Amino acid sequence: MKTLIFATLLFVGIGNVGCKEETTVNPNATGTTGTGTGTTTGTGTTTGTGGTTTTATDYSTNVIKAFTAYGAKNVSSVTVDGDYILIKTNGVPDHKSPYFKGSAWESTLYVNDTRSSFKQAPGSYVAAINYTFRIPKAPKESSSKKSLGTATIGIALNGVPLFNQYAAGNTAIAVGTGEYVSFDLYGGHPSPNLDYHYHIEPNFITTAKGSDALIGYLLDGFPVYGSKENGKTVTNADLDAYHGHTTKTAEYPNGIYHYHTTSEAPFINGNGFFGTAGTWTK
Ligand SMILES: [Zn+2]
Ligand SMILES: [Zn+2]
Repeated sequence: MKTLIFATLLFVGIGNVGCKEETTVNPNATGTTGTGTGTTTGTGTTTGTGGTTTTATDYSTNVIKAFTAYGAKNVSSVTVDGDYILIKTNGVPDHKSPYFKGSAWESTLYVNDTRSSFKQAPGSYVAAINYTFRIPKAPKESSSKKSLGTATIGIALNGVPLFNQYAAGNTAIAVGTGEYVSFDLYGGHPSPNLDYHYHIEPNFITTAKGSDALIGYLLDGFPVYGSKENGKTVTNADLDAYHGHTTKTAEYPNGIYHYHTTSEAPFINGNGFFGTAGTWTK
């Protein structure tokens, strides 16, 4: 009679580093329905109460200028299409990364990440993906602050997608643990779908342009700035539930609602968009 040996396979993994954000739904997205009532009288005049209309400004020139000034070669076009601005990018970062290992750009862009805190997500590398981001050219506050239900929330000026603060399984990303440890030197990583992205400040951009620099746009058309403003570090306490506020900025001297990155969760965006999100496709 044979002796059966039961081998126990112990999987020692680094766990949680391979995100599947495309299926992630923001569990904290609690949009409220706006109310507005208006009555039309028989004489042809419209009266209403509560349905306040805010005039939105067309900021397409500002957006095109920002992407043009940054000049990422992987952003192939930024154009106006009706009420939207279309941004086409292949999502490949303009900086080195350990995630170029095994990619088409390994010989020029791969770098070993020697930080002891870093654990590379296995099997993931950078691939070119044809993205089209479609953001409102005249962003304005939405009465129902909603999340899209996908991880992709915006686009950095270097053409890399910005993701929300949730990893696989709707796990909120926290500093120094879980998926966070797989972020490379510049704060990004690819998911198993090979889509390189940032959940936190893209510090390649802020190192080059300044911690108070414009770094990109969320899908609702409102700009995202780095973690400093007027020489001071911005914290969650300075921002609203959506991770933004309204002040004058260098690119928007008349003032605009904008998001800030912070070093603490939720890093880029809070519970939904301040405005009405556009779309993204790949
Ligand atoms: Zn991720
Ligand atoms: Zn600000």
